Amino acid sequence: MQQLTPNVYTETEIRGCDPSIVLTKEGAVFIDTAQWITNLEQMIAFAEEKVGCVKYLINTESHIDHIFGNHWLKKAGATIIGHEKILDSFFKIPPAFNMTTHDYNVDIIERQDPEALDRMPSEEEYIIATPDITFSDRLTLKLGDHTFDCFHKPGHSPEQVSVYVPEERTVFVGDNIFNDCQIWLHSADFDQLFESLDWLLTLDVDYIVPGHGPVKGKESVVENKQFLYDWLAAVADGINKGWSKEECVERINFADRCPVDIGQPECMEYIQTNNVRKCYDYLMNK
Ligand SMILES: [Zn+2]
Repeated sequence: MQQLTPNVYTETEIRGCDPSIVLTKEGAVFIDTAQWITNLEQMIAFAEEKVGCVKYLINTESHIDHIFGNHWLKKAGATIIGHEKILDSFFKIPPAFNMTTHDYNVDIIERQDPEALDRMPSEEEYIIATPDITFSDRLTLKLGDHTFDCFHKPGHSPEQVSVYVPEERTVFVGDNIFNDCQIWLHSADFDQLFESLDWLLTLDVDYIVPGHGPVKGKESVVENKQFLYDWLAAVADGINKGWSKEECVERINFADRCPVDIGQPECMEYIQTNNVRKCYDYLMNK
């Protein structure tokens, strides 16, 4: 884990999202979870050793690479917080994968964390650990000397949440930001995403913890907006040339720009084709 500030730790070097921990006097608060059993167990043990217990888990979104570990955090005693819309898509994976969520999870653990496979619960045992507390617009949690200001900031997903911790000059944004890796647009709303990205620039922060990739400051907002503009401009150009949606899919590709986040190169084609279709539909509806 990388220590960002005296009380903030994050893990950016494993397959899955960037799960993070904020240590407070009253216990630890997790923001998102590892998609990796051994790592989950280590992060929970680390938090318990440092501050005695895990008090809360805040989910920034419903995607499985963020909520995979809800089961383990719930068992560790965490109260789970998320946006009310998270329940619409909780534990669902994109239909293109053509697998149940449980089979998808088992497949990942088999490949990346095989020694922990015996600790993967059966489908029946798997606790569907949905949030205990949901909110619609904004929720402010005070714990010890820390403030967790949870804002509904849709964009990457309808239920997207940003967690601003002013005492640590840090905001956790989930997949509204991808750093140095491919942006997934499968559940994105462009107008909301641009609005939520611009909002980040108004915060007094040193660190913006993304959903994937290394932690950066506000330059990551500029970089993400540029990547989004490049996607839209490329598809707009195709439309202007009279290309159909599927011709755009065939001819437009940003695979050379950066890799997919750690450990999932097989998703590159899905991301590219899906992103073109998202951009095409958005532009044609404008
Ligand atoms: Zn996501």
